Amino acid sequence: MTIQKRHLSEKNFNKIKNAVADILEALGADVSTGDIADTPKRVAEMYDEVFEGMRYTNKEIAELFGRCFEIAKTTDMVCMTDIDTFSYCEHHIALMYNMKVHVAYIPKKKIIGLSKIPRIVDMVSKRLQLQEKLGTDIADVLEMILETKDVMVVIKGEHSCVTTRGIRKPGTVTTTMCLRGAFKKNENLRKEFLLQVK
Ligand SMILES: [Zn+2]
Repeated sequence: MTIQKRHLSEKNFNKIKNAVADILEALGADVSTGDIADTPKRVAEMYDEVFEGMRYTNKEIAELFGRCFEIAKTTDMVCMTDIDTFSYCEHHIALMYNMKVHVAYIPKKKIIGLSKIPRIVDMVSKRLQLQEKLGTDIADVLEMILETKDVMVVIKGEHSCVTTRGIRKPGTVTTTMCLRGAFKKNENLRKEFLLQVK
């Protein structure tokens, strides 16, 4: 499987474009003229890009970025921390930003190429997401690739639907944790990883 330049079909692209024009009109904007006339098209193009991950299942993402190296069995933990990402919440289509993803796993018989972890994070972030779901998606993909349940994902992030609207609490950070296998059972292991997470 390779990354395809699969884009939204013309039908779905137009569907988004027309829906955005409807929203703008309902808000009182005149979309027939001026710079705003192209906004529906620009939004559809943006959605095509930022929701690329919705075109692939977790299994397909595991196939895309699953390049591994065989190793002898080890109990040593591999951590990758502070992977920057952003996503959009499925409740408001609002930006989730300042997000840092921290990943740990214990290799069973293979290790993953380190550059692949941020690629997996990027691709599953390019979906309408919930922070909790983002963590389980990353863990699912890693579990499939690494053939181990010993995976943990911690995410910290800010949600614009919390910081800029409604309750309006800028700086509020949400932390979610997805613990599996040994990380669920072994408190010391969990603590060791959390020491790496600022
Ligand atoms: Zn939201």
